[in-house]
Amino acid sequence: MTTAIAFLGLGAIGTPMARHLAIPAFSLAVWNRTGAKTAAFAAAHPVRAAATPADAARGAAIVVTCLPTSREVESLLDGPDGLLAGMARGTLLVDCTSGDPATSKRMAARLAEHGIGFIDAPVSGGVVGAEHGKLTIMVGGDAALLDRAMPVLKAMGEKIVHCGAVGAGDALKAVNNALLAVHIWSAAEGLLALSRAGVKPAVALDVINASSGRSNSSMNLFPERVLTRAFPRTFRLALLDKDVGIAAQVARDEKVPSPLIQLTAELFRAAHGALGEEADHVEAVKYLEQMAGGEIQ
Ligand code: NDP
Repeated sequence: MTTAIAFLGLGAIGTPMARHLAIPAFSLAVWNRTGAKTAAFAAAHPVRAAATPADAARGAAIVVTCLPTSREVESLLDGPDGLLAGMARGTLLVDCTSGDPATSKRMAARLAEHGIGFIDAPVSGGVVGAEHGKLTIMVGGDAALLDRAMPVLKAMGEKIVHCGAVGAGDALKAVNNALLAVHIWSAAEGLLALSRAGVKPAVALDVINASSGRSNSSMNLFPERVLTRAFPRTFRLALLDKDVGIAAQVARDEKVPSPLIQLTAELFRAAHGALGEEADHVEAVKYLEQMAGGEIQ
């Protein structure tokens, strides 16, 4: 028995995620806004190239979306080519976008009117985690819907966690990424200060990574991307800016004093504005370097 699945959004992380669904257990249809990417994916994998979101969703039991923000997902619902025109009652939308809780709740309510289920299922683990099918997936929504989505999520991820009601996955993902942003920014400030004080960044990281200040940023991102000046483009700064903004909004909505997250949101908004849409998230370091008038070296 194969299950019909649709995957929409063949971006940096969507593409390696979709590859894990191009397996005999599923019959997969893919759609991407830029049709050339749909065609290239379909040429390389045993999948159906869909012309529109509705076309992708037609006949699918589960539709997976992975777009920049909830806004783009919501904009795919309506119109003659939209998801609602293709999805049947009893089907399920699994949104792997790092979305925002308010829009996810609104979409879940709209889809419910059509007898369609919704779970938010943002992912963590980066492009490499997606390539290896080892993503962490944080899910918000009904537990029975998560059970239905589990074979699809298991194909793409390793750790799948039910976080709460619709929007809970989005909120947790945003807070995780706010921590990532704090770690990148604070490590950059610290290493810049240390290099001016005469401590080489490699020496500083060697000590920090054996001490209590270590983080994924100090252990992996700075040695591999900043000290080498490689700055590979894997996760756009624009998307991290969006995520920290969502975390800041969640904290404000919940009336939690959150000066550090609010400030981090401001800093990443400014870095995104200065460095543009295609900069990688770790390039936020370059924005601080510009402000400081020197590099971490
Ligand atoms: P990309 O910017 O690489 O890709 C975005 C995708 O969305 C592309 O397929 C793009 O299509 C499509 N898209 C953009 N705007 C629209 C629109 N208006 N209508 C329809 N499709 C649209 O993003 P990523 O793949 O990196 O990220 C996707 C999601 O995953 C984001 O929410 C991100 O925060 C999250 N994420 C990303 C990680 C990463 O390491 N990259 C890690 C964890 C989460 P087109 O090809 O036409 O531009």
